[in-house]
Amino acid sequence: MTIKETQEKLRKREIAPEDVVSSFFSRIQERNKEINAFLSVFQDAADEIKKKDEKLPLYGAVFSVKDNILIKGERCTAGSKILEHYIAPFDATVIEKIRENGGVFIGKGNMDEFAMGSSTENSFFGPSRNPIDIKRVPGGSSGGCAAAVADGMCNAGIGSDTGGSVRQPAAFCGVVGFKPTYGAVSRHGVIGMASSFDQVGPFTSGVEDAEIVFNAISGKDSRDSVTTSIVRKKISRESIKVGVPEEYFVKGISNEVKEAVEKAVSDVEKAGVEVMKINLPHTEYALPAYEIIMASEVSANLARYDGMRYGLEFERPAAKTIHDAYINNRGEGFGKEAKRRIILGTYALSAGYYDAYYIKAQKIRSLIAKDFKEAFGKVDAILTPATPTLPFKIGEKIKDPLAMHLSDIFTVTANLAGLPAITLPCGEKENFPVGAQVLADRFNEDILFFAAKKFEKIWKH
Ligand code: GLN
Repeated sequence: MTIKETQEKLRKREIAPEDVVSSFFSRIQERNKEINAFLSVFQDAADEIKKKDEKLPLYGAVFSVKDNILIKGERCTAGSKILEHYIAPFDATVIEKIRENGGVFIGKGNMDEFAMGSSTENSFFGPSRNPIDIKRVPGGSSGGCAAAVADGMCNAGIGSDTGGSVRQPAAFCGVVGFKPTYGAVSRHGVIGMASSFDQVGPFTSGVEDAEIVFNAISGKDSRDSVTTSIVRKKISRESIKVGVPEEYFVKGISNEVKEAVEKAVSDVEKAGVEVMKINLPHTEYALPAYEIIMASEVSANLARYDGMRYGLEFERPAAKTIHDAYINNRGEGFGKEAKRRIILGTYALSAGYYDAYYIKAQKIRSLIAKDFKEAFGKVDAILTPATPTLPFKIGEKIKDPLAMHLSDIFTVTANLAGLPAITLPCGEKENFPVGAQVLADRFNEDILFFAAKKFEKIWKH
């Protein structure tokens, strides 16, 4: 059931609020062992939901929360051994906002360590599994929340998206995943990965639900300085012009995804929507630019886990030297992928290499934003595939970081340019969902939802 449908049933007294929560609990009990979607489950959710006012916009919404978002008094691990026993000292702004708007939390979702990965296999707490086929990954890094929504363990989720971590797992699990415009949603209380890309976004089972959640969580917050008071632009359209970029259908995309998305595009056209081919010429440089900037920011953000305030220091005898303290904490606390990125990012930022890597990548980032700016002069929304492949098998790509990183090829561009982007199911191949992605210009969430709702209707028929 969507949030919308749940609310209708609650308001008509067809179901009681505590039943909503208890049905999710029984599903979790039945399935979580196998799927490993949740790292912790909150027993008080049933009491919480009874206290909520039924007029609130998120009444009846039961959320899984990615484990890099702070809920006061609860453990928050970011999927890492280094934070295994860390208890959040305050609530993230999104948590406050969801609560104020009537939503409740049922548990914390598994994730790749510090949100670094595309399969949830980099979690210290073991991989999550795709509920459609448990031999496959649910995508990542917010794989736990995506799997939980897809499997009916909650009716919404909150994740973070730095390069696709909401949209890619949503596509792999057959649900909706939305990354808002950079600066639309506060990240106060969200553990930082790459701060110039990070954005919080919802998982839902329909586009309308994503819009309901977005309306509740967005807005300026003095505790996150990149949030702005530019409110979502109010734009109403009767019809829209949709651009399909040629660069997203070239090498690297699997035949299954290509066929399904091409069919979805032609169905949109047949339904009377104006569709045109467009070009985003710098697309091929997007992933390398993302990798450099992301790793650079990761190396800076992860520097705080030095054992002084966060780390494993309380569990072992005090280190004698600062060097030993680092080895004890960072050497033991971080997994392979985190270490790989810290090393790469430190290198890219080092004297003598900074211009060649970091500055160059930033220039490419500007060119990518410019490509989009020009495209949005011609079209209202852009339609692309969400991922290059169907969900892959657990273990298939974990030893090959390059192959793993290629999963993000279609999603990183929105983070580089700060655009809002949503993924939703557009078809099926070999019994797996295929996701499409819709992008709009900055703060044009109105157009984005209008387009995505239109497409959702067409593809559901
Ligand atoms: N999969 C991407 C990465 O590993 C994106 C991660 C994210 O969005 N948090 O960098």
